[in-house]
Amino acid sequence: MTSAGRFAPSPSGELHVGNLRTAILAWLFARSGGRRFLLRVEDLDRARAGAEAEQLRDLAAIGVSWDGGVVRQTEREHLYDGAIAELTAAGLTYECFCTRREIQEAPSAPHAPLGAYPGTCRNLSGAEREAKRAARPPAVRLRSTVAEATVWDVLHGSYTGVVDDFVLRRNDGVTAYNLAVVVDDAAQGIDQVVRGDDLLPSTPRQAYLASLLNMPVPEYAHVPLVLNADGARLAKRDGAVTLADLALAGVGADQVRDTLLDSLGLPPGRLGDVLAAFDPAALPREPWVWPGVPGAHKGAHPGTGLRAGTDSRGA
Ligand code: GLU
Repeated sequence: MTSAGRFAPSPSGELHVGNLRTAILAWLFARSGGRRFLLRVEDLDRARAGAEAEQLRDLAAIGVSWDGGVVRQTEREHLYDGAIAELTAAGLTYECFCTRREIQEAPSAPHAPLGAYPGTCRNLSGAEREAKRAARPPAVRLRSTVAEATVWDVLHGSYTGVVDDFVLRRNDGVTAYNLAVVVDDAAQGIDQVVRGDDLLPSTPRQAYLASLLNMPVPEYAHVPLVLNADGARLAKRDGAVTLADLALAGVGADQVRDTLLDSLGLPPGRLGDVLAAFDPAALPREPWVWPGVPGAHKGAHPGTGLRAGTDSRGA
């Protein structure tokens, strides 16, 4: 299978400029390495009707193109079932009946890292499990044999993080992101994962899970996020941050693309024409603060923002 990169949005709403900047980076990383670029809609959870179409439209508008059809996680449950069955057959899963509250209130296991599942249900007897099943459907957790794992990231270097008995399938039957992402990346031949660096802490769990399933661990590049003026992660409430809202404020998709490229130290233009200038080693390592559009919703920064209807670089 030829190597591939991907963008894997959750269709919970419109993409904002932070998501679009990550998508541009994923595209540039993949294409500059001669990879295919795939689009996977992560719709197992938090899907909103109509959001997928909006996201695909906006990606196309800024020039992020993808190969082949769009893959949706809700159409791939058989793959996740197969992976969980394989882990279960190897004794690497267990049923967990804990509520969120019970986990929060449980005393953490000695030496367990902060936030790790305390292992409450790890060693239940058959009779205990039977009794608990009557009260509550179980989640499925990984029976991890390590406490941490180390991954290598193009931008962060060596990164070590927690691997606990994380959830593979929730107790409402929904496959957990950490399992689906590993299974899909392997099944789709994805050997390079470029995404926001808020996901770096989950990556050791995913790499460990891939190794248990005899799947290759992809190359990772976790890219800095876009922040609002207060230094918090950019969100929809930060004003005109989607292509639709920016268009209403007089800022077109090409101008947004060029502004995002500029924030990456890259020249303006179509993504294919920018490829020659793309150098991962030269990418900014710090988050970027969205300048906003003067007069367009709250969060705008008079004087410093994008100007409606002008070339963002020349203005
Ligand atoms: N669907 C995830 C998100 O939108 C991204 C998952 C990934 O890139 O691994 O945050």
